[in-house]
Amino acid sequence: MPTDQMKTCSKCASTKSVEEFYRQKDAADGRKSWCKSCDNARDGAAKTSRAARNLVYNRALRILAERHRNEFDAIRAEIAASVEAQYAISQASSPHTVES
Ligand SMILES: [Zn+2]
Repeated sequence: MPTDQMKTCSKCASTKSVEEFYRQKDAADGRKSWCKSCDNARDGAAKTSRAARNLVYNRALRILAERHRNEFDAIRAEIAASVEAQYAISQASSPHTVES
């Protein structure tokens, strides 16, 4: 049956049966402009780049955390000491009467 329409992929420029193009409701001909293999390749690439980005991000975060761990510990100790000191002062200076 010659019902198969042909369509040229706007990505790889090869002419294929419309069956080789995914459906898209809002497209003029009801099909995407990229053929299935181009569409799949793009999705795969997007997935890969997203995974690669996450990997780079996590690695950088880990390195940064490692590098600053000592600093964090020092800051935490400093804050703890400061809070302790403040608490000690407020305990020493606070009158044993309830403010009204
Ligand atoms: Zn294509």
